[in-house]
Amino acid sequence: MVDPLLALQAAIRHRTIAGEGLEAEFDGLHADLRAHFPLLFAACEEVQLPQHALLLKWPGSAADRPIVLMAHQDVVPVNPRDDWTHPAFDAVIDDEFIWGRGTLDCKGSLIAICAAVEQLIVEGFTPARDVWLSFSSDEEIAGVTAPLAVEALQERGVQPWFVLDEGGMAVTGAFPGVEPPIAVIGLTEKGLVDLQLTATAEGGHASMPPSDSAPARLAKAILALQKSPAPAHLPDPTVQMLNRLAPQVKPPLRAALANADRLRVPLAKVLARVSPATAAMTRTTYAITQLSGSPAHNVLATSATAVLNMRVAVNETVDEAVQRVRKVAGDQVEVTVTKAYEPSSVAPLGDAYELLEQITAEAMPDVTPVPYVVMAATDARHFQRVWPACYRFNPFRMNPSQRESLHNVDERLEVASFEEGIRWYTTLLRRL
Ligand SMILES: [Zn+2]
Repeated sequence: MVDPLLALQAAIRHRTIAGEGLEAEFDGLHADLRAHFPLLFAACEEVQLPQHALLLKWPGSAADRPIVLMAHQDVVPVNPRDDWTHPAFDAVIDDEFIWGRGTLDCKGSLIAICAAVEQLIVEGFTPARDVWLSFSSDEEIAGVTAPLAVEALQERGVQPWFVLDEGGMAVTGAFPGVEPPIAVIGLTEKGLVDLQLTATAEGGHASMPPSDSAPARLAKAILALQKSPAPAHLPDPTVQMLNRLAPQVKPPLRAALANADRLRVPLAKVLARVSPATAAMTRTTYAITQLSGSPAHNVLATSATAVLNMRVAVNETVDEAVQRVRKVAGDQVEVTVTKAYEPSSVAPLGDAYELLEQITAEAMPDVTPVPYVVMAATDARHFQRVWPACYRFNPFRMNPSQRESLHNVDERLEVASFEEGIRWYTTLLRRL
């Protein structure tokens, strides 16, 4: 079998950025996948999906309770102003890392899944149940191929035991006071809303400005939102995470985390203050991402607009969150929803979750698995609308600096961690 690391290197070298007409890059990726994993493509039935999405069935000895392993083929673009240690699409391998766009998000898992399947086929192994592989091609632009895969599976009457997508990893330095790595296994993800805030006023010449203006009205609304963030509280998966983290921290924090259920209110308040990352665990977040006003330096703005990107907590609805923004922003700005989807349902801590915990304990003995709420959006939300048992975890290690490299500069994956991740998937497939 071909070295999986070389397969990953080849995959990174294809600039599979979605929505930019880079069809040849996706064709190249597919050619490489077929060349590196010939037994997988021979053993699997392929369902035809548009736009280079891949949906494959690896038949098992039983067809009931199949599982779905997911990853996406596309990557985010590279900012040309960024100065990478090694060029983003060269996939340089040094003593420690493989560098490049997509190593962590998420060609590492795409290739590790394929390598695990290929390896098991070489060994003559047949999975105990059908294994579906769903590799979308437009996750980063919230595209259509994951919903199309859901439709295709529904048409075939597939009722997965569980679905596994990206969203959590084995992280260090993510939670204050916790030293050892923790495997955050996403049970759900926050919702997302883009709101446009618009303030209007009379225009005119900038030499004779009135006391009130569209930008000032908009600024007042933005500051009001900053001063009154959404209320902080702890959803159930976060309470379960804190309970499992309790043995890892020192007293008196240990007792507080062990009793997180009773202490939801004070713990939420503390976490909301510790860091932006822990604050995001406790509430619907508001981020002003875009601003615009007058088209010229000497013309008063007749309207000023801001985009508010809001991540909706799992215990809230889009509607509730939008109503609160309208109230806080006041009546001098108009609030329009331009994009919205609800937070996902929460996957159960049942036999599938327990299996993921066991596999993690076996393949990564120093890592503590914990349930988690994913802050960002993943393709799994489309699956979870139909099948609640969707989990989000890539079995790779990530330190704080690697975490910052996601969608950013110097994205890189440890070679040893990539190999460990393949063993994790192999163990999972053997234990189905
Ligand atoms: Zn991703």
